[in-house]
Amino acid sequence: MTVDFELNSRLVALLDNAEPAFAAAFIQRSPAGMYVMDHSGRIDNANEVVAELLAIPLTELVGLNIWELLDLDVEDQLAALINDHDWTQPLITTLPFQRGDGGRVTLQVRSHPVLDEHGNVIHTISWASRVDADSDDSEAAANDLFRQATESSLVATAIIDQQGTLESINRAFSELVRQPVDELLGTNLQQFVPAEDREENDRLLHPVRSGEKDAVNFVARIYRSDGVELWVRKRVSLIPIANRQAPKLVVQLSDITEQHRAEILAQEALVDLAYRSTHDDLTGLLTRSEFINTLDRHLSGDELTRPAGLLFIDVDRFKAVNDGVSHLAGDRVLTAIAQQTVVALRPHDVVGRFGGDEFAAVLPDLSGPDEAFEIAEQLRNTIAGSDIAVESGMINTTVSIGVAISRPGSTGQEMLAEADAALHLAKQQGKDRCVLADEQMRHDIINRVELAQQIRSGLRSEQFQAWFQPIVDLSTGLIVSYEALARWVDGDVVRPARDFIDVAEENGLIQELGQRVIDEAVASVRLLEPQQTMSINASPTQVGTPQFSERLSWLLSSQSVDPSRVTIEITEQALLELSPVCRRGLESLRKSGVGIFVDDFGMGYSSLATLRDFPVTGIKLDRSFTALLDVDSADDTSARLAKGLADLAVNLDLIRIAEGVESPLQAHALAQMGWQAGQGWLYGEARPASELPLA
Ligand code: C2E
Ligand code: CA
Ligand code: CA
Repeated sequence: MTVDFELNSRLVALLDNAEPAFAAAFIQRSPAGMYVMDHSGRIDNANEVVAELLAIPLTELVGLNIWELLDLDVEDQLAALINDHDWTQPLITTLPFQRGDGGRVTLQVRSHPVLDEHGNVIHTISWASRVDADSDDSEAAANDLFRQATESSLVATAIIDQQGTLESINRAFSELVRQPVDELLGTNLQQFVPAEDREENDRLLHPVRSGEKDAVNFVARIYRSDGVELWVRKRVSLIPIANRQAPKLVVQLSDITEQHRAEILAQEALVDLAYRSTHDDLTGLLTRSEFINTLDRHLSGDELTRPAGLLFIDVDRFKAVNDGVSHLAGDRVLTAIAQQTVVALRPHDVVGRFGGDEFAAVLPDLSGPDEAFEIAEQLRNTIAGSDIAVESGMINTTVSIGVAISRPGSTGQEMLAEADAALHLAKQQGKDRCVLADEQMRHDIINRVELAQQIRSGLRSEQFQAWFQPIVDLSTGLIVSYEALARWVDGDVVRPARDFIDVAEENGLIQELGQRVIDEAVASVRLLEPQQTMSINASPTQVGTPQFSERLSWLLSSQSVDPSRVTIEITEQALLELSPVCRRGLESLRKSGVGIFVDDFGMGYSSLATLRDFPVTGIKLDRSFTALLDVDSADDTSARLAKGLADLAVNLDLIRIAEGVESPLQAHALAQMGWQAGQGWLYGEARPASELPLA
């Protein structure tokens, strides 16, 4: 029987104020043992429950003194306890009694005082119940009470003992686990807990079992009797039963399966999102930014006592596969190389895809540069030695690898720049090789970092200008056009574009710098003869910005410049990399009349495709072709190529300009081959706008 203190105290107050007859009747009918004593211990009233506990007829019990009934040789101590007690509070004692039948019984007695106006105890009202474990009465009573309280509850509720045996369950519980009440009673609650969760379940229940806490709440998994998995919120609380050593537990289960599933789905979606934002879709490797994070984390680690290596891996002639065979074949090559790289490296090396056909790998904990180089060589060999199956057959690819080694204090950016420089050299030296970054490269990189700083301050003090180099008709010798070239003018020092354009491009400074040249070039069109046009260079980054075309057509109309007097020079590579948006931008520029030249023509891979697919109006033959025409024993191949390219351009009805014309001999040869115009030192270097038009 649960004994509620609050309730008892209120009952005492009620009984105290009630009619004596009512109080007497209440006590008689109470399902719990009750008796009333005066201050001396005389029993004034009692009920049958107490009479039965003590095995003394009720009529005899009333009038007896409690002290006569106690089986006690500690009367003094009890008297002291009673005297010392604060009688504004109930007194709870466990007392041994002598039963009327000669036996003994231990009762827990809770005595509530009824006080007079001076605070003296007039009498006490006591509740008595058995303490010994054998008594099932109060337990049964407790279960009864519980059943009454929970039967109608919609929450699945069960009462269990310390071992988990189901002693009582309500309908909602039976419905939740899909098993009839009578089949469940006496079985163990554990049957619903998945075996692998049991240990954790016990751990979570411990505070209640040990009496440390009154209740615990947690989310758990259960198996319904038909095997279906459910997620439940589980509340387990203690019901203190007065006469039990081991308390019972109330278990309440709320089905949250749906909610839990929704949460899991949301969580999985988040994990998936996080994964996809850090991993490349095609190869599953880390993305560029995640790889850089990993590299930085690694380099900043305190434990970095041994150097780390960085490999920069580039697939040789990838464009030939991707554009020449198929994009599907290109994808196959990339995934195969990604796999081969992961397999060839050590388990703790980290590989990332840098975009396009570039991969990178961090090699932690190296003995030195030799080890990094060896690993890179092995990887290169593996890839070169294996064919990759694509839909149309087997493809053999090679890679070039740049290798950099960390020094104390190295940053990720520095290492990437070093490995990139080494990769560049590997490509230059003929591809399919590994190059280790050396001191010279480090120096160059440091110089480039310094140069970027200087460009920034040069931009602030407006030291960048457009200068203009004439383009001359090879047959008439007249200037037909000018090319605007960026110049860095710092006092008397004038630096050409080749000194700074690459660094500006790499450091995000080309937009600002390029825009100044464009503005000045467009403004200078009005200085030219009416038949002359203006060529303006645009880097891959510039034309790769969707605003590029819009900005230029706005500039032309605001300056009232006829668009057909302006031509944009773009390298083949930049054309190939155009996004659809930027490509449409260029196409609409072309429609408005702006010309488009392919710059440095002859250096790319898929020249023919470019000319066919893009709205190109002219080509500028790279000066490496022109340079070879000068030599007495003119390189035959070069000459034939230059001639072939001119023929091609004629067939495609393109304007043909040769770059780097330094001698009359070259000019003559080019004209013979079909080149219309030439540009070079033979006709003059670039000059500032103040000198336009040149004679
Ligand atoms: P490019 O478009 O091929 O420009 C021609 C380059 O060759 C110029 O170098 C020019 O000074 C140089 N040159 C002209 N005639 C001769 C010659 O007879 N012999 C030799 N050996 N060289 C000659 P520069 O001005 O240093 O420009 C280098 C590159 O920088 C340009 O190559 C172009 O790609 C880029 N560039 C120049 N100005 C700009 C600009 O305003 N914006 C952008 N995005 N790039 C620019
Ligand atoms: Ca150019
Ligand atoms: Ca060029």
